[in-house]
Amino acid sequence: MTLLPLAPASFQRAVLDWYDQHGRTELPWQQAVTPYRVWISEIMLQQTQVATVIPYFERFMARFPEVQSLAAAPLDEVLHLWTGLGYYARARNLHRAAQQVVTEFGGEFPDTVEGLMQLSGIGRSTAGAIVSLSMGVRAPILDGNVKRVLTRLCAIDGWPGTRAVEQQLWQVAELLTPSERVGAYTQVMMDLGATLCTSRRPDCPRCPVVAHCRAHAGGRPEQYPTPKPRKTLPVRQTTLVMLQQQQQVLLVQRPPSGIWGGLWCFPEVATPEQAAELATSLGLTPGIAAALDGFRHTFSHFHLDITPVVLPVTGHLDAGADHRWVDPTDPGALGLAAPMSKLLAGLGQPHTPRML
Ligand code: SF4
Repeated sequence: MTLLPLAPASFQRAVLDWYDQHGRTELPWQQAVTPYRVWISEIMLQQTQVATVIPYFERFMARFPEVQSLAAAPLDEVLHLWTGLGYYARARNLHRAAQQVVTEFGGEFPDTVEGLMQLSGIGRSTAGAIVSLSMGVRAPILDGNVKRVLTRLCAIDGWPGTRAVEQQLWQVAELLTPSERVGAYTQVMMDLGATLCTSRRPDCPRCPVVAHCRAHAGGRPEQYPTPKPRKTLPVRQTTLVMLQQQQQVLLVQRPPSGIWGGLWCFPEVATPEQAAELATSLGLTPGIAAALDGFRHTFSHFHLDITPVVLPVTGHLDAGADHRWVDPTDPGALGLAAPMSKLLAGLGQPHTPRML
């Protein structure tokens, strides 16, 4: 069987005609298009839905309208604007790449895929999206949505995370990418995956390539792409201690690498019984600790079972570079990991603590 079920020119004509009638043109990053705006949107859209991204993108652009302002900002402020989007390595890479653009490329984005891939956090697909959408340079893309469309169109078996399948998909993407209307083509590939060829219920009757789609012909298009082989995630435990004094709680900044790198969190101990010891080690006098209901936070490679402990303290601890007393109802412009936002919000709510 040939790799493609139809000629590239026929595929391009079908999807671009569909784009002219149904493609999205009103997204905020499709207005006043620049490499910088496309780049920020592409990074935000990784693992995240368009509807979630829009308000983040708009806040980000209002604060950092161009690469220079992002490069000059403290990382903390970037992480703060990222709070809630998750996958914080993206924000750290974004900040680092902005500094690279300013210091190594004179403030201008490279105009090739290879050049863009030298920047922190930019892979081949993101680079392809930036050059095609903002510079009209021909380059294939292969994000999660496009992988789904192409594995279905060509009925490619195997998990796309494996090297062999990924290479095959890049080959298909390369063959199908046109030399003209490259920005519209990139956009329509994203649109097809996001709006028609969705994971669970692809809307095949409305699809412009339904007549050629091998997965549709096979009757079970949603079985593509082959899912990642399941493995059980390990479970780790931690205790987060909410040291409380005069309606304020203590947050500490995590080291730059590792989980929640650079974000502000409650101090961590191994078991609830160690909360008082932690207070003492900071020169504070512990009162009576109480544990709140625990919950699970899942990272890509493990589950973290969190036991929150509230511990009133007395004594004096000045705010320092890596620790701060904050009002839980208004913690200020700090980058917070999602469980911390949840715990801070919960502090104002009635709860039933258990004495330790
Ligand atoms: S026909 Fe259905 S499965 Fe095939 S590409 Fe179109 S929407 Fe996806």
